[in-house]
Amino acid sequence: MCSPEVMAQVRDTIERDSRRAGMRRRDLFGAAGLAALGALAAPRTAAAAPVSSSGTVVDLTHTLTPDFPVWPGNPQFAMRPVATLGGVGSVDTGSVDTGSLGPANPASGFAVNELTYWEHTGTHLDAPAHKIAGGATAEVLPVADFVAPVVVVDIAARASSDADTVLTVADLRDWERAHGRIPARALVAMHSGWETRLAVPGGFTNLDAAGVPHAPGFDSDAVDFLVAERDIVGIGVDTLSLDHASSRDHGAHVACLGAGRYGIEALANLGAIPPVGATVVVGAPKHVAATGGPCRVLALL
Ligand SMILES: [Zn+2]
Repeated sequence: MCSPEVMAQVRDTIERDSRRAGMRRRDLFGAAGLAALGALAAPRTAAAAPVSSSGTVVDLTHTLTPDFPVWPGNPQFAMRPVATLGGVGSVDTGSVDTGSLGPANPASGFAVNELTYWEHTGTHLDAPAHKIAGGATAEVLPVADFVAPVVVVDIAARASSDADTVLTVADLRDWERAHGRIPARALVAMHSGWETRLAVPGGFTNLDAAGVPHAPGFDSDAVDFLVAERDIVGIGVDTLSLDHASSRDHGAHVACLGAGRYGIEALANLGAIPPVGATVVVGAPKHVAATGGPCRVLALL
């Protein structure tokens, strides 16, 4: 058996050596690269990085805007220019908002924006520390877990008529009957079709008259199953919470983050990737003591 850490070292070593040899990344993770990995590692871990080489990359990330929906009560994302190049299409004159940066500031002559947001905004990572006292923070999570096979479980038909529906163990069993066993070290994503609601004001958060949000999420038993029986690296959702939004016990968060796995919320474009076969790359945040943060998530087909 190869531990994930050993596997990561193997992969890092191969990548470094391949760079020296001038190999392109596609070559590295193509058949020859995987054969090399397979020769060095046990089959279980070799299956954890089945990168295909079609060259298609799908962005699973929403563009973060000031009006992107946030969890009720959280502040919106905010952005303001603190230094500009002097206006669109102009020559760089180094114009600067002197209310925040003086002309002598090193930023003068360059365009710079100031961003203000809570960590759990937009398409973002939940680290174990988001919910679990003493849990791992984002910057110390194993980077090998940020490159993983991605499995998409589609519950959109049910979610269209039941905003409180959850992804269950039965859904996972159905998925496996259709597509085969969920690979080890996978990111398992719930596709509820919720992003179509971004076009309707208030549709994504979907508050009821009492201000309680309603949106699909994972059932905690399903997360327990994925952790214990399928050894996932994490779960993802196309909604604002790993749990169904009106959950009071946050059981899916506890099951996932309590097991040291990560979550990704507000994923985009899950309908554009196959149920299995793509590899996800999570550009996770790396600020100190991060409970999570906006991330760029890509699927390689
Ligand atoms: Zn979060």
